[in-house]
Amino acid sequence: MSRADAIARAQEYFDSGTFKSDLARRVAIATESQNPERVGELARYVESEMKPALEALGFRCRVMRHAKARGPFLYAERSEGEELPTVLGYGHGDVIRGLEAGWHAGLSPWQLVERDGCYWGRGVVDNKGQHTINLAALAAVLAVRGRLGFNAKWLIEMGEETGSAGLREICAENRDLFAADVLIASDGPRMAGDRATLSLGCRGAYPIDLTITAREGGHHSGNWGGLLSNPAIQLAHALASIAGPTGQVRIPDWVPKEIPDSVRRVLAECEIVSGPGDPQIDPAWGEPGLTAAEKVYVWFTFEVLAAPAIRRTRSTRCRRARGRAARCAPWSASIPMKSCRRCAVTSTARDFPWWKSPRRATRCSARRVQIPIIRGCVGLPRRSRAA
Ligand SMILES: [Zn+2]
Repeated sequence: MSRADAIARAQEYFDSGTFKSDLARRVAIATESQNPERVGELARYVESEMKPALEALGFRCRVMRHAKARGPFLYAERSEGEELPTVLGYGHGDVIRGLEAGWHAGLSPWQLVERDGCYWGRGVVDNKGQHTINLAALAAVLAVRGRLGFNAKWLIEMGEETGSAGLREICAENRDLFAADVLIASDGPRMAGDRATLSLGCRGAYPIDLTITAREGGHHSGNWGGLLSNPAIQLAHALASIAGPTGQVRIPDWVPKEIPDSVRRVLAECEIVSGPGDPQIDPAWGEPGLTAAEKVYVWFTFEVLAAPAIRRTRSTRCRRARGRAARCAPWSASIPMKSCRRCAVTSTARDFPWWKSPRRATRCSARRVQIPIIRGCVGLPRRSRAA
C-alpha cells in the first residue's frame, strides 16, 4: 500500500514486457495525421486503444469531434471527490508520416523493434510512448491503493502533428469540461537521456508560411533574367533579415529584454548535453553570451522547418552553358542562374503538381519556439525551352 509498491509495480510493467507489447500494438496503428488516407486509423486509435485503456482504469470516456479537425478527440474523466484537486493529462495519438523508405534495414515505422537498447517505431517518443507510460503510472497507483487521491481528466488529440486544428476551439467551447487545477502534458524531449525532466512551463510557438508568388507560369531566365523578380532570392533576403549568419535573431522586438536572475540561477543547474545518437551542439550558433540552457529554454529561436522552393531536376542540359548539367537542390544557394542562365527558369510552386507541401512538418517539442515553413516559388520546369 505504499509509494514503493506502486513504483515496483510500474517497474514490473516494464520488465515483464507488457509495456513493450502495449506500445507495439499502438505503434502498429498508422496514425499519420498528415495523410488523409489514414483518417480511419486516427479513429481506430481512439476507439480500439485509448478508450478501452482508460475505461479499464475507471474513466468515463467521450469521443468528441470538431469541424476543423480530421480526427477525433478523446475526453476521459475519473472523479474521486469534489474536494480533491483535478489533474488534466494531455497526449496525442497521431504521428508524422511514416516515410517507410527512409528507415534503416530491418526497421519499419509500424513495427516496434528493440535494437541497441532502444525501441524503434513511429510514435515511440512522440507521443505514444509518453501517454502509455503515464497511463501505466495511474494503473500502478490504482492497483496498489485503489484510488489516485485526485480527480483525473485526459485529453487525447489526433491532430497535433498537423497543427492541432480544432483543439483551441474545442477547449474554449468546453471550458468547464476541461477545467483543472493543473495540466500535465508529456510531450517533448528530456534534457538528457538519463535525466528525468520536469518543465514547469513552456514557451509559445508561432508558425509562419512565407510565400512569394511573383507571377503565373515559367519564364526563361535567358530571356527574362534581370527583368523579372526572383522569389527565391527575395525569400533568402527575407530570412537573412530575420536571422543572422550564426542564427542570432535580428529583430529586437522578438527577443526578451533580459533573462531574470532567478531564471538564470535555476538554469545554471541544467546542463544540455548531446547523448549517444544526438548531434553535437554548435556552441557558436544562436544568441551570443547565453548558455545552452538559456538559449533553448528562455530565449527566442527562429527556425526554418522546410524550404521546398526549388525543384531538384534530372540533369537538365543547357547547350549554351557548354553542356553543364544544371541541378538545383531544394533551397540550395547554388541556383544555377549564373552558370546556366539558359535553363534556369522562374516559376511558381503551383506549376508543379508533384510537389506536396510538408505543411506543419515536424513540430513537436513543446519547449522550442517555432519553426516557420517556407514555401517558395522557384523551380526548373519539366521541359526547358532551351533544352
Ligand atoms: Zn508530440
